[in-house]
Amino acid sequence: MDGMKPSDASLCSLSGRSWNICVELDQMRRLARQLASFPPLLHHEPVMDVISRVLFFVKKHKRIIYPVINILGATYTLVMILIVALINVFHTCPVLYGDDACRFPIMVAAMFFQVCSNLFLIHYAMKINKVSYWTKEGSFLLPKSVRPKIQEACQEGAPLPGNPQLGKFCFECNLNAPRRSLHCPLCDVCVLRCDHHCFLTGACLGIGNQRYFVVWLAWICVGAAYSLKYMTIYMYTFIAPKFVFDYLSFWVPFAFFKWIFGFETFFNVILAALVNSTFWAVSMSSIAIGGQIFFIIKGNNMWDYRKSIKCDGINLKERFELIFGRNWYLNFIFPQFWNRNVMTEEIATNIFLISTKTCRWSLVCM
Ligand SMILES: [Zn+2]
Ligand SMILES: [Zn+2]
Repeated sequence: MDGMKPSDASLCSLSGRSWNICVELDQMRRLARQLASFPPLLHHEPVMDVISRVLFFVKKHKRIIYPVINILGATYTLVMILIVALINVFHTCPVLYGDDACRFPIMVAAMFFQVCSNLFLIHYAMKINKVSYWTKEGSFLLPKSVRPKIQEACQEGAPLPGNPQLGKFCFECNLNAPRRSLHCPLCDVCVLRCDHHCFLTGACLGIGNQRYFVVWLAWICVGAAYSLKYMTIYMYTFIAPKFVFDYLSFWVPFAFFKWIFGFETFFNVILAALVNSTFWAVSMSSIAIGGQIFFIIKGNNMWDYRKSIKCDGINLKERFELIFGRNWYLNFIFPQFWNRNVMTEEIATNIFLISTKTCRWSLVCM
């Protein structure tokens, strides 16, 4: 209620709204103002009002809208992968090299298996991200020496008055949550060692599913690069030579105008859009893999890194085993879902019980 003054109550009642609704709208308006800090158009009060109403509507119906956002994100990704794969298997490759040269179902099937199985596991392993998993059914993963202390510190119910330094209380989950957790409103759960919420997979990435995300990214990168090769050669061979500026055929708005005036087929416009999206997928997944590996090597993650939290693990082996389990590299060949996260006493203490010392740039930090 920081932004509302008591005198606003009369204005509120004049507009025929209850005080609570007015406060919520005011909060959303301030949020909209923060979001629109630089596009000048959004500084206009009517635009701000529309944005705040949309945000208010989303917040009011979050139990329905948030899961739908997650489902739509994962569905969009799967549909795009399917379209690109089908176009390459049944069109660009056979037209370029003939039917016989394109009989590579094992390669395509392997990429499909990796992408789909890891996407499934990203969602399935979200339960391991939950703080309650580690204190209940997954408590055997904690070292015995610190297990009772962690179970006591992360109790559900009322906030513990005696040991507030061990964590924070999440009113959404009704849980004494460790500082190394973050409540995600979209997934509606406290995520342990939260990295970020990924809209393209529709899931939060934390201690339990980060490994599947890294492997998924790697296979997305391989698959997208493979598809990009076929689509680019196809465009240069059959589409670009028909026009004086070859490269313009790859520019979607230009290809679209060519189609409007009858100089291009709609399929070719779609192909230009897919070449652009696939190029974007290769670039972004490469950058994301680099970032993920960088933070794993540092014994941290994106979120904790910004908060200058002490690194997990004293060497690379401990840091990789914490995320991937034993024999981390095997995950890239087949998802090692039976290989659990390995947590030493020191890491468990750092994740569940304390969060203090700054350690950013040294590879091995104590
Ligand atoms: Zn929570
Ligand atoms: Zn989330």
